[in-house]
Amino acid sequence: MGLFRLKGFPGTGSFPHGIHPPDNKALSANMAVEVMETPGTVTLPLLQHLGVPCKQIVKSGETVSYGQMVGKGEAFVSASLHAPIAGKVKRNIKVTLPNGRRLDAIAIQAEGEQIPPERIWEDVRFTQWPRPKDCFTDYEPMDIVKKIQASGIVGLGGAAFPTHVKVMPNDTRMIDTLMVNGCECEPYLTCDYRLMVEAPEAIVTGALLAGRAVSAREIVICVEDNKPEAIRHLQDAARKTVVQVAVLKTKYPQGSEKHLVKAVLGLEIPLGGLPADAGVAISNVQTMATVARSIIKDIPMTHRVISVSGRGICNPKNIFVPIGVSLAQVVDFCGGLTPDAARIISGGPMMGFSFSDLSAPVTKGSSGLTILTHDEVRKAEETHCVRCGRCVDACPMNLVPTKLALAARYKNPELAGQYHIRACVECGSCSYVCPAKLNLVQLIREGKAQLNAWERR
Ligand code: SF4
Ligand code: SF4
Repeated sequence: MGLFRLKGFPGTGSFPHGIHPPDNKALSANMAVEVMETPGTVTLPLLQHLGVPCKQIVKSGETVSYGQMVGKGEAFVSASLHAPIAGKVKRNIKVTLPNGRRLDAIAIQAEGEQIPPERIWEDVRFTQWPRPKDCFTDYEPMDIVKKIQASGIVGLGGAAFPTHVKVMPNDTRMIDTLMVNGCECEPYLTCDYRLMVEAPEAIVTGALLAGRAVSAREIVICVEDNKPEAIRHLQDAARKTVVQVAVLKTKYPQGSEKHLVKAVLGLEIPLGGLPADAGVAISNVQTMATVARSIIKDIPMTHRVISVSGRGICNPKNIFVPIGVSLAQVVDFCGGLTPDAARIISGGPMMGFSFSDLSAPVTKGSSGLTILTHDEVRKAEETHCVRCGRCVDACPMNLVPTKLALAARYKNPELAGQYHIRACVECGSCSYVCPAKLNLVQLIREGKAQLNAWERR
């Protein structure tokens, strides 16, 4: 771990194992967020988060206004859905997301006067936020939780867990520390980075509000040391508040929750455990900005910032987009694909999903698109495992990836369970280092699905 020391926290600022893939962030890191125009239609899958799908509460033919609730999250672990445009509800449809899930969706055709999307973005980036330290005590903890729930906010870092569940006060599991995740360790993606640079006040305000909801004594925003500008902006915004900024060593997958807790607090989360078991709640920087906007400006979650990057897109960008816009429109907005574009990935190259159907919509959990060229994906032939152990050295969860992958390949879910396949965070480090080019993480994902099916039988 070298000489890296974390100032003011018990952790070392890093974690054992992990890898250092080229980050390729320079392609889009300096691209200020652009606002996408209102699209002609949006498609809103009823499940855009971990948990139970929301229930459609509008009928086809009905007219809806901007921000109107169109799907209600009725279960505790569910999130409501709001119209990102004004328009008419079309006939119900099904959509297939890049991860292969096929879901019921509400389609809305734009109609009538629209709120200019620039205005919606201004509410996030707004330079005249009430001073963070002055405003957050105006809100009672339970009111903050209820508002987050009513606004349909989910974790925007990728996992899309409903945020109200994370910040709900809980007598049995007290939360000491709210950690705000600004690591964005996936190569290529820079949407969180841009938000930290362009809207630090909203992030700090959201962190104070969420920290108040969960009664955290400490609030810490965690950023890797390869983002000095973001660190400077956050430190400025957090001055004279209780929010601290922890500068962590750049290493993949530093943004994984368990590794963040280890790096900052020096605490181990046991196998099968959650950050809450260590008294920690973790939420992403963009989620915090959305929380601030929802509570202070009274606007539900309808838009998010995504990155579109890679050498296979003509103009890499960071874009503020309405949820439900098609990925094809997003690609068009970036000037289209280059002639040598070869692979489209939803998310980043380490944890994302390759897909080809650009009619899929942006969802609340979409962090962006990475588009690689033929050169970058030159297909290396898969060979046999040479038992070099590199995957074991790279695995930040101390697993034996080759054994997990073999158990999955030979459809032995019981064995996969014994090897703790569920502890795998699907970071892709093992696949990245494997000299035999085995797609270990893909096999491990299949192994997890086999184990779930086997346990349900
Ligand atoms: S086994 Fe899972 S956690 Fe370990 S390196 Fe591979 S993908 Fe990451
Ligand atoms: S890195 Fe690849 S070749 Fe080496 S032990 Fe792991 S699976 Fe086998």
